[in-house]
Amino acid sequence: MGSVSQPQRRAVLTGGLVATAAVITGCSTKTDNGAASKASPVAAASPSASAAAPPETPSAVLKRLLEGNERWVKGSLQRPNQGVDRREAVDEEQDPYGVVVSCIDSRVPPEMVFDTGIGDLFAIRTGGQVVAPVVTGSIEYGPVTSGTPLIVVLGHQRCGAVKASYKALKERKPLPGDLQSIAEAVRPAYEAIAKAKHDDPVDAMVRTHARQTAAGLRRDPALAPLVKKGALAVVSAYYSLDTGRVEVLDGAPAA
Ligand SMILES: [Zn+2]
Repeated sequence: MGSVSQPQRRAVLTGGLVATAAVITGCSTKTDNGAASKASPVAAASPSASAAAPPETPSAVLKRLLEGNERWVKGSLQRPNQGVDRREAVDEEQDPYGVVVSCIDSRVPPEMVFDTGIGDLFAIRTGGQVVAPVVTGSIEYGPVTSGTPLIVVLGHQRCGAVKASYKALKERKPLPGDLQSIAEAVRPAYEAIAKAKHDDPVDAMVRTHARQTAAGLRRDPALAPLVKKGALAVVSAYYSLDTGRVEVLDGAPAA
């Protein structure tokens, strides 16, 4: 993996924070004493695009992910970083280059949609990719502790969670159990789209919800300073079940 210096990413490292976060989550992330020595064998054994140095800037990460998605769309997958060599290379520590916040929908697995492998992404999945404090903590983990430079909030076509929430809010009939908490989480998107007429209101709500979620993360107290100095970008995006293509909605970093 990217052995050599990662000035932007290391800039946000603080020993105490890393240690604390690692204890809390039970994860380990690369620190200044990280797994640089394990990088070379991986690159040598798997000379694919993604097995080369990982992207380190927000725009480079987005480019890498969209290139992977293009392979997914075309059916020309490389399946990088999925071999035993990669598994062994990251068994002690990890340093994913991206965070993807997506739905639990079985048809939208982030690692496949972006043609990535082990150790490449922090993948956070909830119904309708809604966030709440416990989820936001997981999203913050990479950017705050190891400078992960990109967060993608990925909504998707025909999202069942958003569709059910739309119906519940429109008809004022709460969903059973804690499912209603998902409906409440997407209420701002519902209220936004309710102000105008839409051919497909659920699809409009999916897109609005992704944009609102990304905007909220940009304002997050732990993430906002990183966004402000350009070390982190938060992108909203939409995944088409029909084509497999990821469309960036907003927040794309300047190259
Ligand atoms: Zn969904």
